[in-house]
Order: sequence, then C-alpha cells, then structure tokens
Amino acid sequence: MEQDTTTALTGLDPERVEVVGDCLVWTGPTTDGYGRVYLDGKRQRVHRVMYERQVGPIPPDKPLVLHRCRERACFASAHLYVGDVRDRGRALTERRRAR
Ligand SMILES: [Zn+2]
Repeated sequence: MEQDTTTALTGLDPERVEVVGDCLVWTGPTTDGYGRVYLDGKRQRVHRVMYERQVGPIPPDKPLVLHRCRERACFASAHLYVGDVRDRGRALTERRRAR
C-alpha cells in the first residue's frame, strides 16, 4: 500500500520501484548505479527529480543531491540531502572509515 502512495506521489512506474528496508530503490535503467528516467524530453537522475518533487528546488550553491544511505538507486526523500563537492568528499571519507 505504501508503494502505491509513493507511486502516486512520484508518478513513477510502480513496476520499477522496489522497497528495500527504508529505501525506495529504482529498478529501471541506471547510470553509474543512479536511477535514470526520461522526463521532459531529457534523461534525468531519479533521485534528483524526486528530491525536487518531494523536498524542493536544488539550491545553486548545493547542486548535488547526495544519499544518506548507500543505495545510489534509492530515491526516498528522507535519504536525500543537497550538498556541494566538499560535502560529497566528506561523505565518501566517512563511508570509507566506516568500512
Ligand atoms: Zn535509501
């Protein structure tokens, strides 16, 4: 049921969405592990599209949409946050340490 709500919210093909724990994982086409959709005549990354739809516009000073979880194909809005290149570097460093 939760998945139906999500699908209604996002307008994504439910056949391409899998709920894994807290994550909403895109099972359609991906690039570098990131979900990819064709919207408004261009290829876009699913997590970026979903961030803008569910949270708000991506600010120019924080142009990257990063994941709190380790699933690149995840687009659960609670797992996404915006940042810049330095934020991404920090996240990668912390992740490496955690291993
Ligand atoms: Zn996630």
